[in-house]
Amino acid sequence: MNKAIFLDKDGTLIPDIPYNVDPEKITLSNDAVAGLIKLQSEGYKLIIISNQSGVARGYFTEDKLHAVADKIKELFEWEGLRLDGFYYCLHHPQGKLPGYNIECDCRKPAAGMLLRAAADHTISLENSWMIGDILNDVEAGNRAGCKTVLIDNGNETEWVEGPCRKPTIICENINEAAGRLLTIDKHELAGL
Ligand SMILES: [Mg+2]
Ligand SMILES: [Zn+2]
Repeated sequence: MNKAIFLDKDGTLIPDIPYNVDPEKITLSNDAVAGLIKLQSEGYKLIIISNQSGVARGYFTEDKLHAVADKIKELFEWEGLRLDGFYYCLHHPQGKLPGYNIECDCRKPAAGMLLRAAADHTISLENSWMIGDILNDVEAGNRAGCKTVLIDNGNETEWVEGPCRKPTIICENINEAAGRLLTIDKHELAGL
């Protein structure tokens, strides 16, 4: 079985520009690359898990997301990283595009995208982590059975509590998260 780091895209891996699909405006977050390199070298697959309701809302079409994925892959390659997967949810119950304006099982805080990625990549969810900047990411990760990191960078503003909304750890950025989660996993492996 493989293990993975599931990464929220907007506000976590990439500075958040709401509904942006212009590849030119996409950059990797500060304080992320060294951590991602460490995680990949420790054998974790790097997989993006992203809500993209802009499609259901009629802001952009799905093919725009392919250009976004290509740009992120390119940014990863420049840094010596490999992107192992990119899963997105196109739905939103209040969207206007027929067929996409539904209650789905993939929009975070639901766990559908993580479950699909786990099946596709033979991933052990209990040995994997979800990293995100809001508690809906945390809930999706916890529901899937992963451990979870909240990057507390100011993007979560509502702090709605719930049974699945407590992160395993809270960090300032992905580099810090990488160091701390690797320490936790090594202790678990050693049975400490
Ligand atoms: Mg986010
Ligand atoms: Zn969905």
